[in-house]
Amino acid sequence: MLTGMAALAFSATCLPVPASATPRPPRKPVVVIDAGHGGHDPGTIGVSGTNEKDVTLLAARELYRQLQATGLYRPALTRSGDLFLALGERVDRARDVGGELFISLHADAIHRPDVRGASVYTLSEVASDAQAAALAQKENRADLLAGVNLAHQSREVSRILIDLMQRETKNRSAVFASGLVPELSRHIALLSGTHRFAGFTVLTAPDIPSVLLEMGYLSNRQDEQLLRSPAHRARVAQATVRAVGRYFAQKEFLRPL
Ligand SMILES: [Zn+2]
Repeated sequence: MLTGMAALAFSATCLPVPASATPRPPRKPVVVIDAGHGGHDPGTIGVSGTNEKDVTLLAARELYRQLQATGLYRPALTRSGDLFLALGERVDRARDVGGELFISLHADAIHRPDVRGASVYTLSEVASDAQAAALAQKENRADLLAGVNLAHQSREVSRILIDLMQRETKNRSAVFASGLVPELSRHIALLSGTHRFAGFTVLTAPDIPSVLLEMGYLSNRQDEQLLRSPAHRARVAQATVRAVGRYFAQKEFLRPL
């Protein structure tokens, strides 16, 4: 990597060309894909023994492959193998790679075996208020938010700035979720009231729009079979890629973060 960068710097120094002749290619947005659970945490266990952590990893890899294939995005995985990551680490990894959209993949379970279908979660108001308050109480927040230096702000000002950013992030998360639901509905059974709100820790990055996609119920035999099928996971990924496209097409019209 260093060699490549040095080579670039060298050629830029020695071969100056007018700026107009070298238009920069548009920066590809980083889409972070988070396969739920992993390692000693199997997640939920399906009716015929499927581990949620395996289904989420396979689905994450398929989504990665499809996003990469568009040539429009830089996908990144929070985990690419069977390893355990704490929820906070997942958010940290997303922020480390400059994630602009965070998609956490899961599969649900419930005691009623007839319940099936996908659902999409974004952060609830109560959960995000609590998160903003907790963040504002942390020390050394200089690098906490992109473009907002909180190091010399009072706790109260920090809280307000975090709150404003989080509000916008939540709006954007909802924009993505509201595009994802109709795309999923074209090929995939959905739970009624598909877009839901909850306090999932993995959704709490204050500056990265984040959704959690429950791809179906492993407690339902049909959903479990579908989630084990590469063709079905490819359909889930296709719908998600279309929703990612919708989101980034609208993003430029949203207020800047
Ligand atoms: Zn899960």
